[in-house]
Amino acid sequence: MPLTRPLAILLLLGLLALFAAQRCDPEPQSVSRSRLLMGTVVEIIALGDKREPLEEAVTEAFRAMGRIEELMSASLPHSDVARLNTAAATVEVTPETAAVLALGQQVAVASGGAFDMTLGRLKTIWGIEEAEPHIPSAEEIAAALADIGPRALHLEGNRVGKQASALRIDLGGIAKGFAVDRAIEVLRRAGVAHASVNAGGDIRLLGDHLGRPWRIGIQHPRNPQAMLATLELEQVAVVTSGDYERFFEREGVRYHHLFDPRSGHPAALCQSVTVLAPTAAEADALATAAFVLGPEAGLRFVESWPRAEALLVAADGSVTLSAGLKDRVQWP
Ligand code: ADP
Ligand code: MG
Repeated sequence: MPLTRPLAILLLLGLLALFAAQRCDPEPQSVSRSRLLMGTVVEIIALGDKREPLEEAVTEAFRAMGRIEELMSASLPHSDVARLNTAAATVEVTPETAAVLALGQQVAVASGGAFDMTLGRLKTIWGIEEAEPHIPSAEEIAAALADIGPRALHLEGNRVGKQASALRIDLGGIAKGFAVDRAIEVLRRAGVAHASVNAGGDIRLLGDHLGRPWRIGIQHPRNPQAMLATLELEQVAVVTSGDYERFFEREGVRYHHLFDPRSGHPAALCQSVTVLAPTAAEADALATAAFVLGPEAGLRFVESWPRAEALLVAADGSVTLSAGLKDRVQWP
C-alpha cells in the first residue's frame, strides 16, 4: 500500500531527527562532590560523556581516600601510624604507609631534615590544632626534639623500626597529598580522563578541562578574600602550605602548624609556599619542606627536585618564582 503524503513526511522528519540526535556530540557531563576527610573539605570534579560511570568513579575515589585516612591518621587507634607510635620495636605496615614513609624519608634527607615525619611529640605539645593551644617552654621543646630526625626511622620494605620507642610519627605534611594521588589513580583506572581532586589546597589534576586548561587560584596568604595569582594547568599536582590555615595568635605573634625541626618553633621565613610536581604526595612534602627552609634555600631545594616548581611568599610578602614558573603565573 502506498504511503499517504502526510505519513511519508512524518516518517522523513522522524528519520532526520534520529540522524541529528546521533550526529550531535553528547552534552559533556560534570560530576562535582565534596566530603569532609582528613580534617578538610575534599572536592572531586570529574568530567566526561556519561554521568553514571563518573558518579561511580567519584564514589570509589572518596572511598580510597577514606582508606588512606584510616591508615595514616595518628588519632585513629588502629591506624598504621598509631600502631607505629605505640610500638617499642619493628612494625609491619601496609604498602601504602610504607610508600609514604619512603617518599617522606627521601624528602627529609634531601631537605637536610627540614621535612621531618618524627616530630609527633612536638606537634602534641604545641596543640596548634587543639581547642587549647600552648606555647611550650624551652625544656618542653628540647624534650620533644630529643632523638628525632631522618635517622630515627628505619625502613625495610613494609617493616618500620624506630630508633627510640618514645618516637612519635606524624604524616600530616604528606598523607593528604598521597590520598589525593590515590583518588586520581582510582579515577584514571575507572576510565575518567579529566578530573580534579582538591583536599583543602592539595590539588591534583587529571588531564585538562575538556580541551582547556584548569584555572587554579593561589590563595593570598594575608587576604582570605583575594587570590594572589592564578595558573593555567593540566596533568599536574599543585599544593600550598601556608601559615594561615591553622594558627593561633598571642600578643601579636602568629603560631602556626609548620614547625622548624631545628628550633621546635613554627617556621618564620615564609607566609606560604606553592609547589607543582607530578604527584601530590611529592608536592605536599616539598611545600612543607620549602616553607621551613625559607624563600632562598627553599627555592634551591625545589629546583633541585626533578620536575618540581615553586612560588614562595616570604615573611615580608615578597614573591619568588622558580625558573619554570616565571612566564606562567597570572597576577590579578
Ligand atoms: P596542611 O595540612 O595545612 O595542608 P601541610 O601539608 O604543610 O599543611 O602540613 C602541615 C602538617 O605537617 C602539620 O599539621 C604537621 O602535622 C606536619 N608538619 C609540621 N611541620 C612539619 C615538618 N617540618 N616536616 C614534616 N611535617 C610537618
Ligand atoms: Mg605538606
